[in-house]
Amino acid sequence: MKYVQEYRNPKFVKDLAKRIREITTRNWSIMEVCGGQTHSILKFGIDQLIPERIRLIHGPGCPVCVTPASIIDKALAIGRLDNVILCTFGDMVRVPGINDNLLQAKASGSDIRVIYSPIDCLQIARENPDKKVVFFAIGFETTAPANAMAVFQSEKLKLSNFSILPAQVLIPPAIEKLLSDENCRIDGILAPGHVCTIIGLKDYKRISRRFNIPIVITGFEPVDILDGFYHVVSQLEDNQACVENRYSRSVRDEGNPEALRIIDEVFDVADREWRGIGMIPKSGLKLNERYAHYDAEQRFDVDSAVDEADSECISGLVLQGVMKPTECSSFGRECTPEHPLGATMVSSEGACAAYYLYKRNSK
Ligand code: SF4
Repeated sequence: MKYVQEYRNPKFVKDLAKRIREITTRNWSIMEVCGGQTHSILKFGIDQLIPERIRLIHGPGCPVCVTPASIIDKALAIGRLDNVILCTFGDMVRVPGINDNLLQAKASGSDIRVIYSPIDCLQIARENPDKKVVFFAIGFETTAPANAMAVFQSEKLKLSNFSILPAQVLIPPAIEKLLSDENCRIDGILAPGHVCTIIGLKDYKRISRRFNIPIVITGFEPVDILDGFYHVVSQLEDNQACVENRYSRSVRDEGNPEALRIIDEVFDVADREWRGIGMIPKSGLKLNERYAHYDAEQRFDVDSAVDEADSECISGLVLQGVMKPTECSSFGRECTPEHPLGATMVSSEGACAAYYLYKRNSK
């Protein structure tokens, strides 16, 4: 399969691992931002191929994991109302709110539906004119264009029974928050190629300059990731700090102007709460004034609790790269993918799920 097999070529993988070993002379801590990259690192044993001197830090790049329990509770409250169909992505239905999750609400009779594309919600709204269809819109910059397009199309179709509960977040402000922490130990960053496909390099260049840190944009296959490590370590060993685009098969400097245009048409940047991390200024998207009437929070008068603490769960520290999943006392015991205590064990991009699936005792 083009763009997959050649990026899993064992010879390229071994050559890159050897080259990384040859150039690494000091200890470095490198964070891969994206949960998809975390899963690849563990699934393909990349953590075993790179030198001991490279310490891996897993970043907060899992949109399901960082969605606060309070907004899940809001989705639950809306989904339990009569005549409401609540739509969301598959991973989201099992993530714990403060007490329940959406799957439990569905089992109790609420009309909760898993969709594959936000546009599916519009079809559901057209087929159910007597119901109110609410899309629980989560995700990073990658899903924002499709979520925005659903609202834009709804306006064109004059669908009055469609609204969204936006929980969109933005990656660069979260990286800046982690790098600003006085205890930050991150020396270099692998940046997520899919986010950069939308937003381009501009924000990363600013972050690299501000924190004097190498950032390499890369993909999700073993060769991509090892190539990313090679270029981060090369910069660190040469005392360089710049942005390198090693995912040019998808990422252009300017990103995707069409996608940025539709995001800008529908959303404004807003402060957002991140689960386990807290409030990050300008790290999310909200409907702008023109489309504010699609905001489910305004249409439905529901309360949400404010307690965000997952008592036994340290996923906030996992998401900040401070602790590894295996350092959690509940990992693999009370907390498993079948009985998750935190979002990072539920999501297909969550670090705890990655460790459980591929590596119970990784370094
Ligand atoms: S293993 Fe479970 S309880 Fe521990 S941090 Fe991960 S999700 Fe939370």
